[in-house]
Amino acid sequence: MSEYKFFKQVNHAFDAAAKYTRFKKGLLDQIKICNNVYHITFPLERDDGTIEVIHGWRVEHSHHKLPTKGGIRFSMTVNEDETMALAALMTYKCAVVDVPFGGAKGGIKIDRTNYSAGEIERITRRYAYELIKKGFLGPGSDVPAPDYGTGAPEMGWILDTYRQLKSDINAEACVTGKPIPQGGVRGRTEATGRGVFFGVREACRKPEDMNKLGLQPGLEDKTFIIQGLGNVGYHTAKYMSEGGARLVGVAEIEGSVYDPNGIDLEKLVEYREETGSILGFGATKELASNTAVLEAECDILIPAALENQINDDNASQIKAKILAEAANGPTTASAHQTLKEKGVLIIPDNYLNAGGVTVSYFEWLKNLSHVRFGRMEKRFEEGSYRKILNVIESGLDRTFTEEEMKELARGADEYDLVDSGLEETMINSYDQLNELRKKHDIDLRTAAFLNAIEKVGVMYEQMGIFP
Ligand code: GLU
Repeated sequence: MSEYKFFKQVNHAFDAAAKYTRFKKGLLDQIKICNNVYHITFPLERDDGTIEVIHGWRVEHSHHKLPTKGGIRFSMTVNEDETMALAALMTYKCAVVDVPFGGAKGGIKIDRTNYSAGEIERITRRYAYELIKKGFLGPGSDVPAPDYGTGAPEMGWILDTYRQLKSDINAEACVTGKPIPQGGVRGRTEATGRGVFFGVREACRKPEDMNKLGLQPGLEDKTFIIQGLGNVGYHTAKYMSEGGARLVGVAEIEGSVYDPNGIDLEKLVEYREETGSILGFGATKELASNTAVLEAECDILIPAALENQINDDNASQIKAKILAEAANGPTTASAHQTLKEKGVLIIPDNYLNAGGVTVSYFEWLKNLSHVRFGRMEKRFEEGSYRKILNVIESGLDRTFTEEEMKELARGADEYDLVDSGLEETMINSYDQLNELRKKHDIDLRTAAFLNAIEKVGVMYEQMGIFP
């Protein structure tokens, strides 16, 4: 099988699943196609006075539910095909976890390390302005979030730009992944990685699957390799380690390292901050290239960076028994087939990394309802939290002030609510996919697409066609 472009890869997986539905070609075509594709160019005046043309995109894949939802990435890989593929994946991802949004995605083709903080802010604000002008940004139309190369600061600027131009009581809900004081929700930054952890833990709980792979149920002592120490990669590795799994390999831009005895994540991150590289850390062995570690010995391989990382060049060499797709589209269609034939359990991206958008949904709801989550200071003061506070206070050698107590209570309540909602979502969705997998004797990716197509297809049928 030859390797396709990214959007075609997504549609390839879609078609494999569509066979199991009753929907006719016309309806399936309507689900697959991108409803709006917007290519924006605008000038940036650089700090040195020169002018540079910036290219950006926003794609709204499916309007079967509004708003559409999806991140904005800053990367040199950004192009129209990539943005379309990622927008489509958002539609299917939201459907799998029953988050009521259509899919969208945005991107700006820049390497952010080449720009000053001021330039990044100007690029972000101008991009947001262009989106607003064309109706591609708003609490009820299209709601961005962070993605590769962006985070809370960019989301804050997007909100502020929207506020400058619109008098909208629901303005805060025009973007998610915001800083907490601007209406962000506690737990959003960690959410994708936390969701990946819940999803992998769920897959590893099934004795039948683990037996087939020659593994014991549970995460304890399972080894894993992670590609990417960005927001998703770092948090995934953190929760996996806390859950009992052993980090044995890491891939980053500068290279890859491996140590079968285990790598201390926090120390590695600290080392990278100091030296600018993961190479040379502790007792780790440096491998030949920055993707070489993907082929190293481990139980679980977790790509948490960009698409097409597992492809015809390395798929047959992969030794992992479980592939956990924290990134979007990390495995080409052809590599998927190779791994499947090798018996690898593939936990697909459009389920596994849905924790981000799930918690974005909680943030959006919080913003629209104009309340804050949790009002349980009493429980905090008198209940089980008091015991935890006692321990912290004894370590600090002082007691918390009343103000500090209130702030802690708010944070803990909101975080608990978000975290338990996320956990339940990841467990329920896994069960839905697992059932479909068994019913049709298909892999989990096909089950995830099938699950999504069924839900979106029914929506289209019920809506009818306007006019
Ligand atoms: N960028 C994330 C993703 O790919 C989150 C999108 C969102 O929260 O809207 O799923």
